[in-house]
Amino acid sequence: MDLDTPISQLSGVGSRRETVLNEHGLYTIYDLLYYFPRRHLDRTTILPIRNFSKGDVVTLIGSVETFGEKSTRRGKIFQAIVSDGTGLLTLTWFNGVRYIKKLFKVGDKLAIHGKVDYYGGFTITHPEFDKIEKDDDPVSTGKVIPLYPLTQEIKSGGIDQRILRNMIKEILDSRIKIPEIFNETTLDTFDLISLDTALKKIHFSDGIGELTQAIRRLKFDEHFFLQLLMALRKRSLQHSDSSPLIDIGPYFKLISDALEFELTNAQKRVVKEIHEDLKNSVPMNRLLQGDVGSGKTIVSILVTALAAGNHAQVAIMAPTEILATQHFHSFSAQFEKANIPCALLVGNMKKSERMPILSGLENGKIPVIIGTHALIQDDVVFNKLGLVIIDEQHRFGVNQRATLLSKGNHPHFLAMTATPIPRTLSITYHGDMDCSIIDEMPANRIPVVTKVVEPERLPKVYKFIIEEVTNGHQCMIIYPLVEESEKSDLSAAVEAHKELDETIFPKLMVGLIHGRMKAEEKDIIMDQFSKNKINILISTTVVEVGVDIPNATVMLVEHADRFGLTQLHQLRGRVGRGAEKSYCVLVKRNVTDTSRTRLHIMEDTNDGFVIADEDLKLRGPGEFFGLKQSGFFKYKIANMVTDGAIIRDARKVAFDLVEKDPNLKYEKNKGIRTTFLKEYAGRMDDVKLS
Ligand code: ADP
Ligand code: MG
Repeated sequence: MDLDTPISQLSGVGSRRETVLNEHGLYTIYDLLYYFPRRHLDRTTILPIRNFSKGDVVTLIGSVETFGEKSTRRGKIFQAIVSDGTGLLTLTWFNGVRYIKKLFKVGDKLAIHGKVDYYGGFTITHPEFDKIEKDDDPVSTGKVIPLYPLTQEIKSGGIDQRILRNMIKEILDSRIKIPEIFNETTLDTFDLISLDTALKKIHFSDGIGELTQAIRRLKFDEHFFLQLLMALRKRSLQHSDSSPLIDIGPYFKLISDALEFELTNAQKRVVKEIHEDLKNSVPMNRLLQGDVGSGKTIVSILVTALAAGNHAQVAIMAPTEILATQHFHSFSAQFEKANIPCALLVGNMKKSERMPILSGLENGKIPVIIGTHALIQDDVVFNKLGLVIIDEQHRFGVNQRATLLSKGNHPHFLAMTATPIPRTLSITYHGDMDCSIIDEMPANRIPVVTKVVEPERLPKVYKFIIEEVTNGHQCMIIYPLVEESEKSDLSAAVEAHKELDETIFPKLMVGLIHGRMKAEEKDIIMDQFSKNKINILISTTVVEVGVDIPNATVMLVEHADRFGLTQLHQLRGRVGRGAEKSYCVLVKRNVTDTSRTRLHIMEDTNDGFVIADEDLKLRGPGEFFGLKQSGFFKYKIANMVTDGAIIRDARKVAFDLVEKDPNLKYEKNKGIRTTFLKEYAGRMDDVKLS
């Protein structure tokens, strides 16, 4: 048996099981060895029920005493009571009752994992659980038992924990040898056990000590390969030629001398850093970070003026039409001073509007284009694209960035983000980039006052809004829209608009904007709001990024518990952009424990870094970036939040390797090359090995 042997060679894998496993991406012995347990049962980590406290996250083993369905206000629920000899615990399901109830028999032994609550007795809602056999009980056997992530489909294909375990056991019993990819020195320096041992011990170990070492080694490998992507991309950029943009050019001073405000020192510094990069023949690859409202737009305008002054074309891409349109207005207002033509390109424009823009880009008559994803379509061709700027770059995939960049000959690249990205995450996701930070707010800012309220307080809040509007200010009310296509959410916003407009604010102008409106309709609404013809704007999250209306002083977020903290911070950043005192009201409707503490972080701090850190811990990187589906974040075992030290070590090994063997061609790096090409290279289109 070797790593490429198909799983059908294992005894017990007939064609039915093979098909199910194949459907889950498991074809070979290799795939099975890398199918890591989601949890391990170990007697040292199993807690007796009598030692539980509310809020504990626990693993326990108990047998089913009784179970049944119950009707409640919220519909049918299913409950089972288990005992471990020290106490009783209730397991509760609100969802999937019809299916769950079929899984129980009195006397079944279960391994259970979840968060303990207390309602007259200990209970866990929607626990993770697996049926185990007597001889699998770690307490009586002293074994460490792996629990695999089994989906419903896998189970219905006739594969349970025990069968999967036996398959893995058969592989290990065959004395298969997994080749090492690192040399001795690396293993010694970073105190890593061999890949062979790690891949075996992750499944079956004799204790937590061995298991911990196995986990550490496998995390290291995963971070190593992601850092390899970063190192390879960085190196290939350093060895590609771009056009140096050296001159100050005619435009920069015309704009910077006529600014309505003085740049902060931080803004001046980052403009300088970027200018230095542009003078190079190595393409710039820089991330500009700055909290909401720190003034990144004017930086991008000045930098664009520099590039355009060197006869280079500039493309600015933003994630939403509203933001692109607003950038277009901000850029146009400044560019008028220097007579720089610029254009806007967004989706579903009329052909008659689109064609002249496309030809202007192709023949170079349009030096600056601002747009959405529309910019990366095939028919957008540039004459001489010298600088690409992507706003909120984490909202695009890395491969979309690659597509836009490929429209020029190694153009300079600037990414901007208002989401402060914690350091460990940043070197994973932006590990190939240089970083500039605007760490200073314009001087005239007063911190936004934030308050979390229950719905009962809303009448008071509405009264306050009326006062603010009477004083000439404006207000935004946000409704969550999980998906732009979710009709029920949309109708919530539409109904709220009707009620607020007719009943609560009858004397005020109340507008509505949402993602399903046509671009022209949105433009009209935003235009009226910016001219204060609309006092109160009700919106789905389409205003989340970038909207700049300095006269708005109240931001009210409905169902605030349904947003991520970073998103709330972005929303809050829509107010407090002028010199007036501003307020952010977060309406909490679903009162669970976590949403309460979560939301109060918003009251405690205005610091985007603190908030992002919390958010990341609570939601994980995929959700944090709104990129749950993105292949980039498909981690097997690594954790970007807690693996800081491992990430730094792995990064060092990856960057050293690429320094010495940039195409991974040496014989001794063959194992690394093979795994890289097989598992990782596809995650970044602009990383190629020769
Ligand atoms: P963000 O960094 O969130 O993109 P913007 O670039 O939209 O922020 O800037 C927020 C607001 O601050 C805008 O109204 C902008 O005109 C204003 N602004 C930017 N820089 C300064 C400054 N140095 N002094 C005063 N106001 C500024
Ligand atoms: Mg912005």
